[in-house]
Amino acid sequence: MFPAALRFALATLLPLVAAAAADPARAAPMRPPVNAPPGGGSIDAKTRATIPAKSRKLSAVPITRFNGLAYVPLREAAIIIGMKSLWVEKNRQLVLTDASSRLEFEGNSREISVDGLRLFLGKPVVVKNGLCYITQIDFERILVGRIRPGLLPSPLPRPKVIALDPGHGGGDSGFEDKRLGLKEKILTLDVAQRMQKLLVARGYKVVLTRTDDRQLGPDKTTDFRTRAEIANRANADLFVSVHFNSLFPDTKTSGTETYAFTPQFMRSDRAQSVTQPDDTEKDPAPVNRYDPWSALLSQSIQQEVINALKTGDRGQKTMHSGVMRWLDCPGVLVESLFLSNDFEANMASTPAGRQRIAAAIVAGIELYADTLSALAPKPRPTP
Ligand SMILES: [Zn+2]
Repeated sequence: MFPAALRFALATLLPLVAAAAADPARAAPMRPPVNAPPGGGSIDAKTRATIPAKSRKLSAVPITRFNGLAYVPLREAAIIIGMKSLWVEKNRQLVLTDASSRLEFEGNSREISVDGLRLFLGKPVVVKNGLCYITQIDFERILVGRIRPGLLPSPLPRPKVIALDPGHGGGDSGFEDKRLGLKEKILTLDVAQRMQKLLVARGYKVVLTRTDDRQLGPDKTTDFRTRAEIANRANADLFVSVHFNSLFPDTKTSGTETYAFTPQFMRSDRAQSVTQPDDTEKDPAPVNRYDPWSALLSQSIQQEVINALKTGDRGQKTMHSGVMRWLDCPGVLVESLFLSNDFEANMASTPAGRQRIAAAIVAGIELYADTLSALAPKPRPTP
């Protein structure tokens, strides 16, 4: 038996330790990017679409196996994507740079910095024999779409049809702040409808997965799948699920997170610690066909939301979300701010604040669309 005082201390501390261990990405302190370039996190569409002259085909990246898993050495990968690599600290911190971009890697860490924005890889960076490696899956499905979409095989055309998914609805309120009288399901619908107006004014066709306060199925699995099917039936070119975050009773945590579906053979961010069951999926989900493009969409939205709302950067992550699983197009889920944080909840509580949130996510969609336009082959002048 533990003495009462020790028992009390353990009872108080253990859940905290367990919570931190269960979700390292959430528990990670805000780490400002090391030596972020001025204007970091504000790459424009044309710059993003540019392929440097020295770039080569992605298939030229050499593969090394550690414990049966395929890794790429970042020094060689850098040459192929037209960047320079250098150690900031030998065998610990590596950066890849070119005129406009900067990527930062740290040995044993899943967290990297991409143009000043935080990104969580599926597996930690490995440093071995003086070289720095990431998995081939992280390189091809998480990283390349964000920094060199022009090197991806078979580019996508500029999106015309956009599916917006207001999170929750009906009996599922999402997070509820009784004190401020806020329900996530009401706020997500309002923000999505504001986004719809902005996007229609810009010439997009927009489909909403729900336009009133309802659930889309008798259970969560059906509800999620129905949302994806609405997008697929409308031939949507991209899908954005609108949510708000909460870590209640923690009221301090704030900031923006953007999620894409977890690549095949990887754990999601929520299942990274040893205390969590391994949620790796051996079979690909339909949406996994679009992983590199969902990555570009995530990077574009995270950049614009943080720049517009001045929220903290909690990083780009992945989850096995049922709402994205069945999509036949790139998709992300945006948690623009925390309703469990009073300062951020105040923004979501006013029409003007929700208009800002809507405009910020729309700016991210536009950046993604402009990047795809810039990637499209130019029509030849007729003789
Ligand atoms: Zn939600």
